[in-house]
Amino acid sequence: MNRKQRRAARQPGSNVRPALAALDGTRIPGGCDDCDAYQTIDATHAPMFMLNVHHDDTCPWFTTYRKENA
Ligand SMILES: [Zn+2]
Repeated sequence: MNRKQRRAARQPGSNVRPALAALDGTRIPGGCDDCDAYQTIDATHAPMFMLNVHHDDTCPWFTTYRKENA
């Protein structure tokens, strides 16, 4: 997100936050080049939104990540 987009997101009446809130819990395909991952948006702390990437159990990238961040 660039500065212009961040400023637009802060404007009253912006469509960004309601659009993100509407996606709460929806599965969005993608998010990892190494597996068949999907993403979900967590809007429980709106106006802060968390994007979670759900990797396959066999994802080589996530396997390496878990080993390096155990
Ligand atoms: Zn993955």
